[in-house]
This record gives sequence, structure tokens and C-alpha cells, in this order.
Amino acid sequence: YNVARTTPADNVATYKIKNIIAVGSGKGGVGKSTIAVNLAVALAAMGAKVGVLDADIYGASVPLMIGATTPPEVAGENLLKPSEVAGIKVMSVGLLVPPGTPVIWRGPLVTKAIQEFMTNVDWGELDYMIVDLPPGTGDAPLTVAQDVKPTGAVVVTTPQRASMEVALKTLTMFKKLEVPIIGIIENMSYLVCPYCGKEIDIFGRGSVEAVARNLQVPFLGSIPIDPRLREAEDNGELIVDFQDSPAAKALMEIAGRVA
Ligand code: ADP
Repeated sequence: YNVARTTPADNVATYKIKNIIAVGSGKGGVGKSTIAVNLAVALAAMGAKVGVLDADIYGASVPLMIGATTPPEVAGENLLKPSEVAGIKVMSVGLLVPPGTPVIWRGPLVTKAIQEFMTNVDWGELDYMIVDLPPGTGDAPLTVAQDVKPTGAVVVTTPQRASMEVALKTLTMFKKLEVPIIGIIENMSYLVCPYCGKEIDIFGRGSVEAVARNLQVPFLGSIPIDPRLREAEDNGELIVDFQDSPAAKALMEIAGRVA
């Protein structure tokens, strides 16, 4: 992504983004935003320059998850400087409206907001931009696929059939729109019992890997259910700081495969 912004004339900025990775899912609540944010954090921990674009306009949760609280600064006419957390640049509608305010917009406004998040935000140079999509195949994922033109897409699902079947529709959407598939991630794969250390396959671990194999799509890995991941997120803490967390370990390994 290499855009020379030429309008407005007094405000010419050029930014270079080497890789744009869209993170999508079929259903909500499967951990897509969690994974998007933690991939960003893990890639930054590996030394990359990273930004996160929250394209989940109605359900913006990136600011809370990454602990971003300061709103973007105005950097010129029609130009915003993204917020920054631990060196990661963040742009989300959640940083622009007062907390708790719902975004009640029709589709065209969502499309416009995402386009402006690309053109009117001073992202500067990035190795990776992670785009957190809303679940499904509506306006926002379509705008990201067609206008933001990601380098590749990652699809997140839990192992249940209901989650996976809808996730595969999102995967097919990316294929139809010629966005290369980086791979599928199985989230909430299993739980490590805190008492006996045994792994419990709550939702039927392994089914995503089997489907990925059938579809000849890369399987990027499984992330266990880890209460600390949820706790860290609710407190705006970063899971990579929890070295002994099995979810953090899985996320770091997956980030290594995505990089
Ligand atoms: P989505 O973006 O798919 O709607 P979220 O990332 O918002 O889903 O995750 C939904 C909830 O599940 C969040 O509270 C998150 O902290 C929690 N969560 C996601 N993945 C895990 C996991 N592997 N272990 C524990 N909690 C998780």
C-alpha cells in the first residue's frame, strides 16, 4: 500500500504500508478482535512497525482490548494522527465518539468511514497493518476487500460446526474478491484444566484443521481458552506480557507463521 495523498494540497502525506492483513470471521464472539489485536501486539514484539485499523464500526472493541484511551490528534486539514499504544498505531471509531455511544449508521457511512481511515489518517511507514473486520460478509468486509486491498486475510473460527460453516462463507468471500487467504485459526480450541493440567476439548478441537486440509487452505494454529486472555483484555493489558499463558504462547507462534 503506497499512497501519495495529494488532497488537500497543503497537507500532502505519503505513507507506506508493506502488508495489510484483514482478520475476519463468520459469527461474532469467536475471538476475532482478540486475535487481531494480539497478532498486532505479537508482531510489534517481534520488532515490526504495526498499526491496527478497526473496521468493526458498529462493534468497535479494539481500543478497549489494546488499552487505547487517547483520541487521535488532528494533524492537519482532513488528517488525523492515529492513537498509539506501546508503539502500535490504532484507529477506531471507538476513539472518536464518547464511550458508550452507539454508531447508528447505514452502510454507505460505514464504507466512507473505512475509506477515510485509510486516506485521512497519517499511518506513516508500517510493516503490518492489521484490519479487524466485523463478522460476516457485509459492507465493511466488502469495502476492506475492494478498497483497502489487503495483502491477505486470516479467518478465525471456533471448532463448532455453527461457527465454522459461517466462517467458510467469509473465506469464500475473500476468495471471490481475490484476497489471498493466509490461513484459518481455531480459537477456543480447548481448555487446560488449572487443577490437573489436562486439556479439555470443550467445543470439539481439531475440526478446523481437518476442514482447512480439505480446502487446501493453510491452518495457522489453535488457541486454547485462557481466562487470563479475557482478563487481560478487559483490563486493557497485553497478553504477551503473560509469558506462562498457553494462549499467549499460541498467539506468538501464529504471529510467527503470519509474518
Ligand atoms: P469477536 O471479535 O469474534 O466478536 P472477541 O474477540 O470480542 O470476539 O471475543 C469475545 C470474548 O471472548 C472476549 O471477551 C474475549 O476476551 C474472549 N475470548 C476470545 N478468545 C478467547 C480465548 N482464547 N480464551 C479466553 N477468552 C477468549
